[in-house]
Amino acid sequence: MSSDDTSRLKSQIRGVFEGGGYVFATKAANIARDAGFTNPARLASNENPFGISDAAVNAAKEALDSGNRYPDETADSLVKALAQYHADCGVKLNVVTGVGMDGVIENVIRTIIGAGDKVVVSTPTFSFYNLAVTAQGGVVQNVRRREDFTVGVPEFVGACRGAKIAFLCSPNNPTGTITPVEDIEEILKGLLKEGCMLFLDNAYVDFCDTDYRRLMKDYDNLIIGRTMSKAFGLAGMRVGYAFVPDWYLPYYKRAQTPFALNNISIAAAVGALSDREFVRRYVNHVKEWRDAFGAGLKYKVYPAGANFVMIDVAPQKSDDVVAKLAKKGVIVRSCASFPTLGDTFIRVSIGDSWENEMFLKAMNEI
Ligand SMILES: *Cc1c(COP(=O)(O)O)cnc(C)c1O
Repeated sequence: MSSDDTSRLKSQIRGVFEGGGYVFATKAANIARDAGFTNPARLASNENPFGISDAAVNAAKEALDSGNRYPDETADSLVKALAQYHADCGVKLNVVTGVGMDGVIENVIRTIIGAGDKVVVSTPTFSFYNLAVTAQGGVVQNVRRREDFTVGVPEFVGACRGAKIAFLCSPNNPTGTITPVEDIEEILKGLLKEGCMLFLDNAYVDFCDTDYRRLMKDYDNLIIGRTMSKAFGLAGMRVGYAFVPDWYLPYYKRAQTPFALNNISIAAAVGALSDREFVRRYVNHVKEWRDAFGAGLKYKVYPAGANFVMIDVAPQKSDDVVAKLAKKGVIVRSCASFPTLGDTFIRVSIGDSWENEMFLKAMNEI
């Protein structure tokens, strides 16, 4: 093909995809590998360091035999298992599923956002909302958190005038900040008057003691996103879900790709939900080490409700610190790519004990 042909074809691609896309933490991993570490401390992606529950593995293996069949398009076994898992909250919850919470977010945006529609995002935060909104032709207005990364409720509600949906992450990635339930409630009331939805991202909620589920009873403009990638250790299985209001349920289903989840991920997720002890053990481990990170470093460690902490390494630069740690076999995430956050923050996942010890030692050496 001539380069003219290629250029002509390339010009058909929508402008929104000319940008950078999602930032993966590969640079640090390459540095660690080049320094000779075959088994570095992997503290960049908030994964469960204890692996995957046996119950999930066994269920997934069994599901391989049904690989010739299309999955149940309603993922009914998973929806039922999730409803049962959450029965303790005492509120009837409508559960929808997706290919990771990322898949849920994409699908929600697809139901609401068209070209030029306004979306508000509480920043600094997880970058995928912005990418998914932009891909759909929507326009993001970032609303900055306060200096201490808490959410300024009046500013946030004020910015949502004319917006169709707003995204707020709690505990927030990458700052770890928990927004109190009362603040979310106030936001929901303010947004309801504007006909604006709130997508509350609860990817890390298992690691804190704040519970937002009861809000589903009273607020028709709330969607709560959840994932099995973090506490349940199923990042590679791509299982996300959400609680949605009654009226919204049929729209979500209509917009979803048929057969979004596959037989194996559905089975693995159902298996994982049956092993509460696995999750409990991991969550306790995270809470203990989160405190140890807070006490064991000479830098400012932000209070976090997640399986990671954010650390201000000023006056050093985050990219430099990440490179230095990688040379010592510790992979963490620089937050320099998070818009509005500045260039002195790193995000460190709570890993297995040996990884955490390796991090503390390396951090105090540099
Ligand atoms: C990890 C993460 C998700 C989505 O994870 P999936 O693996 O797609 O389920 C969503 N939101 C935040 C804030 C996350 O950190």
